[in-house]
Amino acid sequence: MGFATDCIHAGQEPDPATNAVITPIYQTSTYAHDRLGETKGWGYARGDNPTREALERNLAALEGGKHGLAFGSGMAAITAISSLLNQGDHVVATDVVYGGTYRLFVTVLRRYGIETSFVDTSNLKKLEDAILPTTRLIFLETPTNPLMSLTDLAGAARIAKARGIPLAVDNTFASPCFQRPLEHGADLVVHSTTKYLNGHSDSVGGIVVMNDDGLREKLKHYQKSAGGILSPFDSWLVMRGTKTLAMRMRQHNENGMAMARHLESHGKVKKVHYPGLASHPQHALARAQMSGFGGMLSCELGGKGQAERFLNGLKLVTLAESLGGIESLACHPATMTHGAIPAEERQKLGISDGLVRLSVGCEDVQDLIADVDQALALV
Ligand SMILES: *Cc1c(COP(=O)(O)O)cnc(C)c1O
Repeated sequence: MGFATDCIHAGQEPDPATNAVITPIYQTSTYAHDRLGETKGWGYARGDNPTREALERNLAALEGGKHGLAFGSGMAAITAISSLLNQGDHVVATDVVYGGTYRLFVTVLRRYGIETSFVDTSNLKKLEDAILPTTRLIFLETPTNPLMSLTDLAGAARIAKARGIPLAVDNTFASPCFQRPLEHGADLVVHSTTKYLNGHSDSVGGIVVMNDDGLREKLKHYQKSAGGILSPFDSWLVMRGTKTLAMRMRQHNENGMAMARHLESHGKVKKVHYPGLASHPQHALARAQMSGFGGMLSCELGGKGQAERFLNGLKLVTLAESLGGIESLACHPATMTHGAIPAEERQKLGISDGLVRLSVGCEDVQDLIADVDQALALV
């Protein structure tokens, strides 16, 4: 089946109890036993919930994977992946990962004796050189937040496979509509469903997708034991979101491309970071491993003052953290999403005080461009 068909149908048969076309919200904590030792396969809702399981099947199908496991947030899903590690293990991660991921690895996992090397994985040589005999996980984000740099997924998978190290990819920015890391050799894909998958800025959640039965068994055990599950209502909301994922992403991509081109030609904008632009240093790789470029971009306006005047001047585009909803959002990475990274480190990574990030939504693009133009006039 095609991707749009899977968005609408995969994993969601009419409800076996009533033939309801839409999977119901099974808002229950427990399930009756017919007799002692006899159940219909559901026992207690931390372990089993038909609404969550329908979402897990749906998202597994969209990523081209066999198994999905849904968690209460993207960070809970990434924490689940980290549960595969033991004390003394080492991780190699992309240097400009999501701020919360950086915080988890540096301030939480380090206390359990797990060390992480953050490297520029867009350079496979640097990725390879960072691997130690104790490396037990490679964790990539591509495109990265907020500079939109890419890592060669197939190349990274070859390096990981040759050493038997599991490769996990945070695919939140591209969505499975435009990039499916399992098809390039990744072992685990993780999403904050809060973003494009739900798509309506009204739910927080996360998902891990994988093919390997052994990994699924370990992570299912972790999900049930640690208990950070996605609620039935949120599972239902995300499923409602994924039904329109294909058409939303088409619009995000079209608007993102138009906005990137417009900003690139604007005199007040010093630089635009968007993988769909020919000026992006990895445009060829983007074309090879992605089937679209999405709605995320960032641009350089000079200094903090310029960024501030622009962000405060926006009227239609909302100044807020998060991304991937149908409405357009703008943010200031240095003080908002990446505020947890020390200033010196941020400077090294290229996240300057003049950088602004846009999550280009699905509005009429001429309205978005008019808003951005009037805000740039204030800079
Ligand atoms: C938002 C985000 C996360 C964290 O997800 P939450 O749902 O906020 O916990 C992880 N990775 C990326 C790339 C994100 O954008």
